[in-house]
This record gives sequence, structure tokens and C-alpha cells, in this order.
Amino acid sequence: MRIVDAAAQAFDVLVIGSGASGLAAAVSAERSGARVALATKGSLQANNSSKAQGGIQAAFADDDTPEIHAEDVWRSSHETADRRLVEVLTTEAPGAIHWLEELGVEFTRENGGYRLARCGGATRKRLLQVGDRTGHAITKQLREAWEAGTGTSLTNAALKELTRFEGGWRARVGDLTVEAGTVVLAAGGRCFREAEERGELSTNHPNATGEVTKIALELGAEARDLDALQYHPNGGAWPANMQGYSIPETTRAYGAVLLNSDGEEFTDSLGPRDVVAQAIFDEVDKGKGVETPDGRPAVYLDTTRIPRADAEVSLPYMLRRYRGGGIDPLQEKILTYPVLHYQNGGLVIDEHAATTIEGVYACGEIAGGTHGRNRMMGNSLLECVVFGKRAGHAASASRS
Ligand SMILES: Cc1cc2nc3c(=O)[nH]c(=O)nc-3n(C[C@H](O)[C@H](O)[C@H](O)COP(=O)(O)OP(=O)(O)OC[C@H]3O[C@@H](n4cnc5c(N)ncnc54)[C@H](O)[C@@H]3O)c2cc1C
Repeated sequence: MRIVDAAAQAFDVLVIGSGASGLAAAVSAERSGARVALATKGSLQANNSSKAQGGIQAAFADDDTPEIHAEDVWRSSHETADRRLVEVLTTEAPGAIHWLEELGVEFTRENGGYRLARCGGATRKRLLQVGDRTGHAITKQLREAWEAGTGTSLTNAALKELTRFEGGWRARVGDLTVEAGTVVLAAGGRCFREAEERGELSTNHPNATGEVTKIALELGAEARDLDALQYHPNGGAWPANMQGYSIPETTRAYGAVLLNSDGEEFTDSLGPRDVVAQAIFDEVDKGKGVETPDGRPAVYLDTTRIPRADAEVSLPYMLRRYRGGGIDPLQEKILTYPVLHYQNGGLVIDEHAATTIEGVYACGEIAGGTHGRNRMMGNSLLECVVFGKRAGHAASASRS
């Protein structure tokens, strides 16, 4: 791998963004024989993907199939997802997991198989985990695979302008001008910027600002469901250092439940994300919430119901963070409130991750359709890998 810091460069494929989707696309394009550059706003490590904790979905349980997985996605999306994309997502999920394993990701195992949890909206146990640092583990191995190849990394190189020319696309990334036959947009969502504008908390990395979507829209790309932003039902509300932290949904998968100020369960804690988040907003509006010491609204997440053995295997990072702030979630309930988390919609893509602009592909959170207007937990990392691979492959195949 080379790191370039000056002069104009020409490549077959230019990937924008170094999260899980961009890295998967870059590795896949390079392995398809293309000369690839990956340009990213900050360092290769700066992205939302590395922050993902809970896990990644794939139908491995004996009572599960990709079709059941697809039905769960369809229902959780309130029948708004693009069924062609959903079918690709769930059918290729087991293969995506095996690809990640070939790259060195070691998913948590038990009883001779994967340790699987049931996440919100799912009818089966389907969530694979690497402790509670799944995104970190996946991006680390993808990054190592990318860095072991011959591709070129352009860091501190935010995309500012993209123009078509006869041979493909010319991009201004940071201080560089890069030419490429095809471009893969993998620059993530916009929830950090959106939360700042609304004066709310967000789980997102500061680089999640959405300007690449704007550039694509200005070029004439079609988008869908851009207004559908997802609240993570369980943002940390207290202690102060945990505000904006996304408490992994696996807390609820392993037994934690939501309680109001009277100690009553007021919703199915493993319902679809939008339903659970709305139930919390409603409960607080009814005056059945609690207040944090700094006056913020909250409800309880009773984490004391999580068996210690499950917590130690699947929630060690979360326990460490809370205990560092003086609270032991296995001894006392914690305070939570929804927090801005994910851009459900995005650029319209087909099964090969092609946008509606010729020669421009999109994958990961910047793309729309796979989750419709409401994503299930664990399907975003999956989407990054499945459609990242497809985008890289297709961008390489169609380079001029
Ligand atoms: C705290 C947290 C926990 C999560 N937990 C889970 C989970 O357990 N399971 C799951 O499936 N999903 C989870 N998600 C969602 C999931 O991690 C993300 O949606 C997904 O990883 C997005 O990947 P991406 O590659 O599309 O974007 P990102 O990982 O956000 O990467 C985008 C990249 O684009 C770069 N970029 C941005 N703008 C520009 C620009 N102008 N020019 C160049 N580069 C640019 C960024 O710097 C970054 O490198 C979680 C998200 C968060 C924030």
C-alpha cells in the first residue's frame, strides 16, 4: 500500500470513504485487478464502522434461513425496503461472514457454533458478535487486507468536487486531483451534522456530515427516504461521559428491559427500533420518565437482569465504560434516552450497487433501499460488506 501526498493521480477505481463499506469495496476492486485509490476525510480509522459494537446479522441458526431474515427486514422496514436489495443482503450474508473470517475476523463462538443473539425486530437468533467491539474487529481486518495490497490510500483527502470527463471521473480530494474510470461513494451518513443542527446528541463520528450525498445529488443522482433518520432507542443518558454513547442492543437481547418511573415495562424491549424509540418518547411525554442529574429526560434500562456470564462474554466494553463512570450496570439500572444514530435512506442503487449515474457506485450508509425507512440492528455492517464487495467488483468490471 502507498500513501500519496501530492500530484495528480490516475486510477481505475476511486473509493470515497474508509469505513467498512469503503474498505470492502476497495479490497474487492483491487482483488478484481483494478488500480484502486481510496480517499478519505481523516485517517483510515476515522469512521462510524469502527464504533459499531453489537454485531452483524446472518442466518446461521438451525431454525433460520435467508428468507426468514429477509421477511424480518421487510416487516421491520414497515414494507418500505427494496426487496431486490433485501434478497441480495440476506442471501449473501453467510458468505460475507465467511469472507470476513478469511480476512481474520474471529466471531465469538459457543457450543461448536457461533454465539447468536436475537436483535430487535428479529424472529430468530441471528446476530453474530465479536464481544461488543464487532465493528472495530471487522474494520481492523478489512484495513489490514487493504493495506497489504497494492492500492493507494489518500488520507486527510475529503471529496470536494466530482466532475465527469471523457475518460471517467475527476475528483478533487483534499489538495489532490484524482482521475478514475469509476467511483464508489462510501462516505457514510449525516447524523453527526444533523444532530448538531438540531441541538441533540448523536452516536456518530464527527466525519458523518453528508456532503458527499449532496455532491451526488447535484450531479443528478436519485435518492430515497433521505428524511428517514433513525434514533437508537438506547443512548446513554447518565453519567455525563456516556451521553451520546449507544448502549448495545445486545443488552436487551440478553435480558435487559425498559422500565418507566413506576418500574413498569411499557414496551416490547426487542421491538423494531423506531417502535421502541417512539415508546420511550411517549412514556416521557406522559410524565412517566425519570430525570438525569443534569435535567435530561430518560427511562430506566434494567441491565441487572442480564446474566453475569452473558455480560462478561458479550458486553465487556460496555461494562468497562460504565464502571469507569462509577456505575455497575449489573448492580443498578442505567438511564437511557433515544439518540440520533443512522440515516436509513440514501442514494438509489441497484443490486450491483450502481447509482442512477453511470460509472458511480454507492454502498453502506450513503445508499438507500436495503432497510427502507427503518433499519434493523446488525444489518448495516452486513450491508457494508455485501454491497461493498459488490460495488468494488462492479466498479472494477466497468472501468473505462
Ligand atoms: C456507535 C455506533 C454503533 C453501531 N453499532 C452497529 C452494530 O452493532 N451493527 C450494525 O450493523 N451497525 C451498527 N452501527 C451502524 C454502522 O456501524 C454504520 O452504519 C456503518 O458502519 C456505516 O459504514 P459506512 O462505511 O457506510 O460509513 P462510515 O463507517 O461512517 O465511513 C464513512 C467514511 O467516509 C469518510 N468521509 C465522510 N465524508 C467524506 C468526504 N467528504 N470525503 C472523503 N471521505 C469522507 C469518513 O471519514 C469515513 O471514513 C453503529 C453505528 C454507530 C455510530
